[in-house]
Amino acid sequence: MKIVLASRNKKKIEELRTLLSEELPLVEVLSLDDVGITGEIEENGTTFEENALIKARVAASTGYIGVADDSGLSVDALGGDPGVYSARYAAKCNFAGDHDDEGNNQCLLFNLRNVPDEERTGAYVCAIACVFPEGTEFTVRGESGGRILKEYHGNGGFGYDPLFYFEQFGKTFAEITPEQKHSVSHRGIAIRAFAKKLKELIE
Ligand code: IMP
Repeated sequence: MKIVLASRNKKKIEELRTLLSEELPLVEVLSLDDVGITGEIEENGTTFEENALIKARVAASTGYIGVADDSGLSVDALGGDPGVYSARYAAKCNFAGDHDDEGNNQCLLFNLRNVPDEERTGAYVCAIACVFPEGTEFTVRGESGGRILKEYHGNGGFGYDPLFYFEQFGKTFAEITPEQKHSVSHRGIAIRAFAKKLKELIE
């Protein structure tokens, strides 16, 4: 059985391949490139689930099972922002510098500049959508709660990780190993839930 992951990100494709090979050894994971889908998919949903479904439906149009994820950081004091804008937050807040991870982090620190420690709570969220060619759809969600620090700690991870303090480890996500992160992260939780549900549906 083949599934198409609506992503061109090699790390994401490999991650899903590795996990599914343990749970569902007969499932082959293909990328958009493998099935000849070119061009960008416009992510204009207002929730992580909507965006994941938009991408998974495109992948399912190939006739294989379509799978996609969407993730980001939701900060309580900012009404859930950066949320679905996490990858392009610097642009959303008209940040003058580069619109990259650094710009996103600077934008976050600026918007939280008057927020005290105890109110700097939030969660990373990951939604995974799965669409079968005949129309069945489901989504799963993983969340990992933490606090937004006032300065960077650590060089690992990516995105907002140097600012995301995780109580259980007493460290930021940029200070832990990839294995530690995978065991507690929004993406790790969502991938495990997705594998379980897919297994129930296809076995
Ligand atoms: P995407 O769903 O992979 O496109 O991720 C959206 C954006 O959310 C990324 O560009 C990051 O800014 C942020 N993000 C999602 N997951 C993580 C994570 O595990 N660490 C740091 N940032 C993340």
